[in-house]
Amino acid sequence: MKIKRNVLLNPGPSTTTDTVKLAQIVPDICPREKEFAGLMKGLREDITKIVHGDPNKFTTVLFCGSGTINIDVCLNSLLPEGKKVLVVDNGAYSTRAVHICEYYNLPHIDLKFPINQRPNLEVIEETLKNNKDIYIVHTTHNETGTGLLNPIKEIGALAHKYGAIFTVDTTSSLAMIPIDIEKDNIDFCMASAQKGITAMTGLSFIIGNVNEIKKSKDYPKRSYYCNLYRQYDYFEKTGEMNFTPPVQTIYATIQALKEYYQEGERAKWERHTRVFNALHEGLDRLGFKDYIPRDIQSGLVVAALYPDDDNWDFIKIHDYCYERGFTIYPGKVENKGMFRLCALGAIDVADIEAFFVIFEEALRKNNIRIPVLYKETKR
Ligand SMILES: *Cc1c(COP(=O)(O)O)cnc(C)c1O
Repeated sequence: MKIKRNVLLNPGPSTTTDTVKLAQIVPDICPREKEFAGLMKGLREDITKIVHGDPNKFTTVLFCGSGTINIDVCLNSLLPEGKKVLVVDNGAYSTRAVHICEYYNLPHIDLKFPINQRPNLEVIEETLKNNKDIYIVHTTHNETGTGLLNPIKEIGALAHKYGAIFTVDTTSSLAMIPIDIEKDNIDFCMASAQKGITAMTGLSFIIGNVNEIKKSKDYPKRSYYCNLYRQYDYFEKTGEMNFTPPVQTIYATIQALKEYYQEGERAKWERHTRVFNALHEGLDRLGFKDYIPRDIQSGLVVAALYPDDDNWDFIKIHDYCYERGFTIYPGKVENKGMFRLCALGAIDVADIEAFFVIFEEALRKNNIRIPVLYKETKR
């Protein structure tokens, strides 16, 4: 079977290998069979290993859903009565966590910082000191909207110093940037199969501290479908998901993890770094400016500012590239014109070079000046 290969430069789902795509084509199976439960057991263990979790302390709980389900589950399940969530919020994905708190009426503090800067650790510490009832500190590792990398190890250390647990949205960094769950002071992290692992959509997972999950058994129950203890307990008792799992995605994820461990954590991160550098080189050559300074970028997402050129039309550039097998993505910052190029997925430098040939062609066909122009020094 020949499947057209598209290079996805959007922030997930990402370009997959043909072997991962084909792993979905299997004989029909009822997921309540022991054979299938066995597959999920191995999968859960292999996911815990991605972040070097000690299997006596950490476990992986799978959910059927997109990545947002993980944030929902963690926040609604892990908060004891009378306690508060502190969201360290410097981007769209941490703001999503705040929205989840609002929907569930969870007592919370939305500790906002500018989206183009790292959060101020002293302010975080001050907030923890003045609010002894904070039980969950939550933030995002790679803020996918801007590509900013948050100092999770330092934030986690503060959370622990003040007796709180630390939940981190690692959806767009896990299985790319090396993470060590204990050394990075994380209690719960999360991702979904279509991002760093480079599998398909529909499977999400939380890797977390078993003791904390067990403790949460008696916390207020705020959701039936999205409760962490319920799903964990069902897995432990039966080896299965409480409700129907995304069967074919699970087969694809098992294959993707094989490929992950074959390539190796280090080599994979080096490949993403090469791709990221190639994206920067291409953009630099055409004169594009980044939205945030390089030294706080995650190494996975570049947010480039729209040039001040009357002929610039993102849709037209996107469509030209899309028709030729390359997907680029708009920005996620209100009232700021920018687009994003991401280094996720089963891609390498040659794909980026091929992309820039097409991208430059798109600029020329649309009569956009090269190098691109900006009116004032803007960032
Ligand atoms: C992709 C992503 C999510 C999940 O988004 P979904 O659309 O629900 O898959 C959550 N957090 C971050 C940081 C992400 O990049």
